[in-house]
Amino acid sequence: MILPSLADIARRAATDGLDVVPFAVPLFVATIMIEMVWAARKAPTAYEPGDTLTSLLMGLGSTVAGALVAGLIALGAGWLYAHRVATIPVLWWTWIGVFVLDDFNYYLFHRTAHRVRWFWASHINHHSSQHYNLSTALRQSWTGFPALSFAFRIWPAFIGVAPGMLLTVGGINLVYQFWVHTEAVGRMPRWFEAVMNTPSHHRVHHATNPRYLDRNYAGVFIVWDRLLGTFTPERDDDPVRYGIVHQLGTFSVLTVAFHEWASIARDLWHAPWRAKAGYLLRAPGWSHDGRRDTSDMIRARWQAGHAEDQGDPGADQLASRNPAATPSAG
Ligand SMILES: [Zn+2]
Ligand SMILES: [Zn+2]
Repeated sequence: MILPSLADIARRAATDGLDVVPFAVPLFVATIMIEMVWAARKAPTAYEPGDTLTSLLMGLGSTVAGALVAGLIALGAGWLYAHRVATIPVLWWTWIGVFVLDDFNYYLFHRTAHRVRWFWASHINHHSSQHYNLSTALRQSWTGFPALSFAFRIWPAFIGVAPGMLLTVGGINLVYQFWVHTEAVGRMPRWFEAVMNTPSHHRVHHATNPRYLDRNYAGVFIVWDRLLGTFTPERDDDPVRYGIVHQLGTFSVLTVAFHEWASIARDLWHAPWRAKAGYLLRAPGWSHDGRRDTSDMIRARWQAGHAEDQGDPGADQLASRNPAATPSAG
């Protein structure tokens, strides 16, 4: 048997797409088991059976939902590519460029998923666990398709990136993000923490502490957060509390998958006409009568009482936008 060369694999991947996720599943299972053994000795509360089961079922359901719509997304990407305005050649360095571009698109998707309630309704699934371990990584959304998350990732087909390349780099991106969901790793070397998304950076992203809300949207490279003002480092004096602002308090898979959609439907039903669009398109927590809080409001209130944190990286921008958060106003 002649093994295909790396160049052959890269060429095939560009035309057909090489989905690396199924190859990584045995690695996921093995490392979750290793982390469970670690947790039993070092962090007994890291795993809770019901929580882990829910995360695994969300992962399974997400895979099924993804398989059902994969053809439609491929069709969309194929249509864009057929109407492309240029053609990006398949070379080793364009693979790197496409990977970096796709990771930036992931950042844009992820930031939108936290700031626009329609996208949040799907992405909140991933944040609903109050535990933080490798199984949390598999707690993926069932409703990413109606939330249009794919639109952020397939548009490069229109500028001439082969759809197979997009599928391939998207899978690698997802697999990379698995290992950052752990408390077993403290800090990586400084240079690595500077450039890459790490367990420390992503713990901040899963936190409900006001300081950490809606920060660190990175997939693979943390540089996007550093460049665009959404980075906050993890601090040892502010340990992360995981989950969402209003914890679900249930392991019910159906509740985890659909609760925010149901809540949007209720709000749309009760809201006056002029406010309906706001419940779909404004930030999660927005309300027309001010009876709920957005993450910006929660953080501003917290910052008003914590003048010593004004110089915090990431917090300074917010303070300049929000007079209520400056010490002089408090
Ligand atoms: Zn998120
Ligand atoms: Zn995550």
